[in-house]
Amino acid sequence: MSCKIPPSVRLWCIPMNSNDTIAAIATPPGSGAISVIRISGPAAAEVLQRCTGRVTPPRLATLARVQDAHGRVVDEVVVTRFVAPASYTGEDVVEFSCHGGMLVTRRVLERLLQCGARPAEPGEFTRRAFENGKMDLTRAEAVMDVINAGSDLALRAAQNQLHGAICHKVEAAVDKLISVAAHVEAYIDFPEEDIAPDTTQQLTGALDEVCAELRALLATADEGRLLREGIRTAIIGAPNVGKSSLLNMLLGYERAIVSDTAGTTRDTIEESVSLGGLRLRLIDTAGLHESEDAIERAGMERSRRAGAEADLILEVADATLPPARAELPPGSARHILLLNKCDLAEHPDWAGVEALRISCHTGRGHEQLAERITALFLHNTGELDTLAAINTRHRYSLQQALDYLLAAREGLLAALSPELVDVDLRAALDSLGSISGRVDTEDILTRVFATFCLGK
Ligand code: GDP
Repeated sequence: MSCKIPPSVRLWCIPMNSNDTIAAIATPPGSGAISVIRISGPAAAEVLQRCTGRVTPPRLATLARVQDAHGRVVDEVVVTRFVAPASYTGEDVVEFSCHGGMLVTRRVLERLLQCGARPAEPGEFTRRAFENGKMDLTRAEAVMDVINAGSDLALRAAQNQLHGAICHKVEAAVDKLISVAAHVEAYIDFPEEDIAPDTTQQLTGALDEVCAELRALLATADEGRLLREGIRTAIIGAPNVGKSSLLNMLLGYERAIVSDTAGTTRDTIEESVSLGGLRLRLIDTAGLHESEDAIERAGMERSRRAGAEADLILEVADATLPPARAELPPGSARHILLLNKCDLAEHPDWAGVEALRISCHTGRGHEQLAERITALFLHNTGELDTLAAINTRHRYSLQQALDYLLAAREGLLAALSPELVDVDLRAALDSLGSISGRVDTEDILTRVFATFCLGK
């Protein structure tokens, strides 16, 4: 099933200005083996001709020389030319792979600008792809999700979205709703007829199905946030139980200062680590104990706040000492008790206490911790191919659509006039349409593409 934007809607989404040819460096700033500069637009081949003296064959990586206005070589490059509509943007595109130095890349870009291209805005390539019907809005957003993915599962969800996971679900809901709306609108044309009770039942049944599908998508919102942003993880526990050691074990290198003196981890340190396919944003905390030391108290206050904002609390305790539990911060975070130093003899009073036994010195328990966290946060890891990670914009539109559908359902049951029911159905369709960009405003497009990096 294709989610391309139908021609009628394409007309509606008038491009900012696609008559010109845009250029941008598509690779990150800095030195590397190669840099890629892309141009897209109707004059792409002309720009290529002007700066290299030739138009290379399409879809064939071809060696060429970019020359300045006096015929001096700026750089030797590999050119790949794509002819519209078979390109990322749907326009004529040329990609120049030049040597990866900052200066040489800039000079090649400047030459392309002299030859008729203009600098692209961030996200403008993908916006053109959207406007030319190459992808719907959810896929356009997925491009940045793929680029920004910080864990394997986030990448998986972004790839699914890029292949239409969310778009397909929304389109299926739209199809069902259109047939409900068509039914209701048929009654508007015959005002003397009331909607028959069994038709009402049939229509509310269809609405219930759509509502259930929207609720199922909305239920993934939290997972979407956790996949995109990572799980905010607070490590708490008394001094010297091994909190910094745990952080270091997870990171795989010495990041926090580990010491025998209580209270050395004075500040909160945030690091990201990929565990079990998820990204944990770890916050190592100052020891949660009373202290006279002002700096340490400030550190503890920060760690209390971090704990309160966390999605996950890893509470660390020392297995060699009698059981002592940390004060858990308020909030709805999930919690795992870790009994550390299990390479040493366990204090007998811990017998029977349910905890994950780990050793930051030997690495014991590392894998089980990954499994425990994945099980706590992801409900559908069995169905990774359908893992969807809706974003805040999708969530807002889905919720809006759901509210309108519930109003339409009530209207049907209360035998309101079909016109009134139809208003809600149409509003729900608009909300769903805004997810894929079928129905959209300049404002939403500007917001979505403003989050893009240059050259995408
Ligand atoms: P924090 O104050 O809770 O951050 O604790 P640290 O990570 O600084 O560790 C305190 C002490 O416990 C250090 O001497 C660590 O080497 C030691 N330690 C940490 N984890 C383990 C472990 O798994 N086994 C053993 N035997 N010692 C550990």
